[in-house]
Amino acid sequence: MITEQAKIDHFYDMLVKKESNYEGIFYVGVKTTGILCRPTCPAKKPNKENCEFFETAQEALLASYRPCKRCRPLSSTSKLSNEVKLLVQAIEANPERKWSDKDFDKLAISATQPDANSKNNSA
Ligand SMILES: [Zn+2]
Repeated sequence: MITEQAKIDHFYDMLVKKESNYEGIFYVGVKTTGILCRPTCPAKKPNKENCEFFETAQEALLASYRPCKRCRPLSSTSKLSNEVKLLVQAIEANPERKWSDKDFDKLAISATQPDANSKNNSA
């Protein structure tokens, strides 16, 4: 999560302006709704104190945010790795679950080596 106040101020400014150049530079999590948005989301902008900014969508997912259904912060960027795509699908299938780094690891394993998944030792 981005904690530098100067960055937060700047990113919030870009968020309010729906600055498309900042697509992929940051993501915003709205604390009051638990939703993750891209800078250009058409939804009403939250107050700054309700925003958390992230440099990657993965970080935001780990902080329990869910992708916004309007701006689809994870769906329409081509930069997304297969692991993240799988994670998004898994999150959408299990919306109540808390996701962790271990889940990312497992998904990464199953994304790259589907056959090794059954022998996966979950320590
Ligand atoms: Zn949104």
